[in-house]
Amino acid sequence: MTITEGKVVLIHYTLTNDAGEVIDTSRGRPPLPYLHGAQNIVPGLERALGGQEVGATLQVIVAPEDGYGVRNEDMPPVTLDRGQFPDDAFIAPGMQFFAQLPDGSTGPIWVAEVGEDTVTIDFSHPLAGVTLHFDIEVMGMRDPTREELQHGHPHGPTGHEGH
Ligand code: ZN
Repeated sequence: MTITEGKVVLIHYTLTNDAGEVIDTSRGRPPLPYLHGAQNIVPGLERALGGQEVGATLQVIVAPEDGYGVRNEDMPPVTLDRGQFPDDAFIAPGMQFFAQLPDGSTGPIWVAEVGEDTVTIDFSHPLAGVTLHFDIEVMGMRDPTREELQHGHPHGPTGHEGH
C-alpha cells in the first residue's frame, strides 16, 4: 500500500539546513501524523512522500520555493518599542502573530529578536529562504476518520484525540 491522497501518514523526520545543523526533529517524540494531500506539511516534502510505502526511508532536499517560501525583501524586519506590545504579553523569538502589515493587509509576523526595550519583528517565516534537508522514515499509514477529512488534518495517531 502506497501513500496516496487522503491517507493519514505517520512520519519521523529530522530537518537540517545547508550547514547540517538540526532545526527540528521528531525523534524522541511520537511520529508526526499528517493528512496526505491536505497541505499539512511543506509542498516539496508532501510531493516526495507520495507513492512511498510504510517503512521507507528517504532524504528529501526542498528548495525554499517548495518549503517556507522566499524572504519578502519588500518588507524587511522592523524593530519596535517593547511598549507597543501589551505589558503582560509573553514574547519570544520564533513566535508568530497575526497583525496589520505595512501594506494594510493582515498577515503573519514573526518575532525575530527580543531586546531589553525592543522587539524586532520579521514579515518572513524564520525558515523562508532556507533549503530544507529532510531525513524521513515512514512509520505508519491509516484511513482518516470522517471528522479528520472534514477538518483537513489528523487528530493524533489513533484518530481519537479530537479537537
Ligand atoms: Zn481538527
